[in-house]
Amino acid sequence: MTRADAFVTLPDGERIARLGQGTWEMGERPERRGAEIDALRAGVDLGMTVIDTAEMYGEGATETLLGDALAGLREKVFLVSKVYPHNASRRAVVASCEASLSRLKTDRLDLYLLHWRGAVPLEETVEGFESLRRQGKIRHWGVSNFDVDDMEALRAAGGLACATNQILYNVARRGSEFDLLPWMSAHAMPAMAYSPIDHMRLPKRSVLDEIARARQLSAVQIALAWVLARPGICAIPKAGSVEHVRANRQALEVALSEQELAAIDAAFKPPRRKTPLEML
Ligand code: NAP
Repeated sequence: MTRADAFVTLPDGERIARLGQGTWEMGERPERRGAEIDALRAGVDLGMTVIDTAEMYGEGATETLLGDALAGLREKVFLVSKVYPHNASRRAVVASCEASLSRLKTDRLDLYLLHWRGAVPLEETVEGFESLRRQGKIRHWGVSNFDVDDMEALRAAGGLACATNQILYNVARRGSEFDLLPWMSAHAMPAMAYSPIDHMRLPKRSVLDEIARARQLSAVQIALAWVLARPGICAIPKAGSVEHVRANRQALEVALSEQELAAIDAAFKPPRRKTPLEML
């Protein structure tokens, strides 16, 4: 039986919650605002304290909602935001970070990520991140959507202090198991799995439903439990209701058996060759 530990460890030894929360598409519909805030706050109460957002989401509206949701809870949370690649130059990254801090109503981010690799030289972005760290505006920095060649380029650019790489990873998107996840593991770097339930695009009928039926759970919970059982992975599902947050938290308690894991492997095969990293 495999049951997930509640934490993963960053390269500097800091432990963060293995199960966190995403925020993409939150803060964009006024009629959903109350439910989204309730969901995020319930998640923090349940220990899902890693919360991921980005300046891109709702062009700032999501960070603004999250800033409101975290009133009185900020100190419990490991807060993650992301900078657009076109804002990742030495100077612009500082302005972007300050704008995110203002929307989030806080004085520091726990982790700041480059959303994907763009045209700005990585040396510049690393310098910008390091300067933000020296100023106490961010505690850690990292990247997102970086494949192995990008990670190697980052190291060559002086980015040895990268804390994590946030990537598309779920039962149906396993390409990174071939080379990227082993590379990260060799560098003691956990991965942050985004869209851990594939943005609700998992096949309608699969072995996940069979396992779910037998356990009186949902296929979403089984898909999430599968990600959470992988070593060195933190997952950030987005849930817009307290009901979904509770269901996701329950997935952390699910211990999939060897037979269930083998059945999942048979239906969602691990990669046999290099597959370029997919992104949403
Ligand atoms: P996801 O977490 O895989 O799926 C979110 C969808 O699942 C929503 O439609 C949500 O509906 C539904 N859902 C959540 N819990 C559920 C449950 N227990 N039962 C049934 N449905 C459930 O997809 P995602 O939002 O794409 O990814 C998660 C987070 O990763 C994002 O929010 C974002 O923070 C981050 N992300 C990062 C990148 C990047 O490039 N770095 C890209 C994509 C995402 P409700 O809203 O109705 O609950």
